[in-house]
Parts: sequence; C-alpha cells; structure tokens
Amino acid sequence: MSFLFPPPPQASLSVRGRPERLPVHRIYCVGRNYDEHVKEMGGVVGRDPPFFFTKPADALVTDGRFPYPSSSHDVHHEIELVVALGPDLKPFAYGVGLDMTRRDLQAEAKKLARPWDTAKGFDHSAPISPLVLAEESGHPQSGAITLDVNGIRRQTGDLSQMIWSVEETIVALGALFALKPGDLIFTGTPSGVGAVKAGDVLLGHIDGVGDLGVTVVPSA
Ligand code: MN
Repeated sequence: MSFLFPPPPQASLSVRGRPERLPVHRIYCVGRNYDEHVKEMGGVVGRDPPFFFTKPADALVTDGRFPYPSSSHDVHHEIELVVALGPDLKPFAYGVGLDMTRRDLQAEAKKLARPWDTAKGFDHSAPISPLVLAEESGHPQSGAITLDVNGIRRQTGDLSQMIWSVEETIVALGALFALKPGDLIFTGTPSGVGAVKAGDVLLGHIDGVGDLGVTVVPSA
C-alpha cells in the first residue's frame, strides 16, 4: 500500500516491564462518575446513565509536558483512572491519566448546548502514565486516587466512589460504540478540580496503578 503522504504514527503507550507498547485505538471519557465532583460542578447527584465524550488518540501526552492550550484562560486538571481494553475487549491494563479541560469553553458549550470537543478534545489534552498490565496489578476496585499541584493536595478520592464501575461503563459504552482492542477509557474524576498555570507541577497517584508527573509549560 502506498500513501499520497506519510500517514500519522500509530498512537501507543509504554507498559511497565514489557518491551512491547500498547497500540491505542480510541479514547473514551466518562462525564460525571464521582458524587463529590458532580456536586462541585453544580449537578444533581444520582445514578443517571453514564454519558461519554471522546478525545483523539493523538491527544495523549507521554513525556510529562503539558503545553498550556490556546484559546482558554481556565484550564483544569481532572485526575482519572484509565482502563485499556485488550484483545478480548476486557480491561487489559491500567494507567493514571489527566483529562485536561478548557473549563471556560466547556461552560460556554453547556450554556449554548454545543459539543464539548474544543473543551475536551484539544491537542495534548490527555497526559497519561505508563500502563500496568492487569495481570500484574489486578483489577483495582478501591484505593486512593489523588492529585497534588506544586506539592499541595488538590484532588482526593477513592476508586470505590465511582458511580459507574469499570465493568458497567464498558457495558454502557459497548451499547453505543463497537469497542476495539486498544481503546482507552478515562473513568471520571473525584472532586477538587481546579485551574493550572504555566510552571505548575502536577503529580497524580492511584494506589496499585502508578504515578503521573506533568509540568505545565507555556504554549509553544
Ligand atoms: Mn473527566
């Protein structure tokens, strides 16, 4: 097969203890999945069906450098457990991710009933740690999920507080999309989301999964 110009590289993630990388297909994200975050966003706590948005696979950031995006003055961190689906479409590996969000554009989109793409799916909007295989980590159902900004704890939660479990989320997503090996699912954030600025150092942690260090750098 030949192309008129070079195709984009295959998005992929490193896997702890393995020489092979995990090829990434799509990135799905769950909207509101922890009660305390629903409350801080002004929502009503309840078990409404989960809702989803996406990010492009080439929005992943694996070098720990998040360039402050254009066209926003209120960019928020959301620390999240990330699940990678394997060949059997079940959880295969886990990682620590940040669902970076242009909160000002999201608020405008909500108000005008417009799509969230510019708020959620911008370039570099998905920093992520190396993955750990489920055969090594097990399937984390509980454990601390935290984010420190410049050494100060900003987000704290426990994986057991998810409104929709990973398994339930996969069932709901599978009713909407043909899931594929290499799909990533960002499973929602606990409370404490807030704005970042250039120079900030973010350190995310999920018990049994790993750590993610990210520095916010000025836009290129
Ligand atoms: Mn999120």
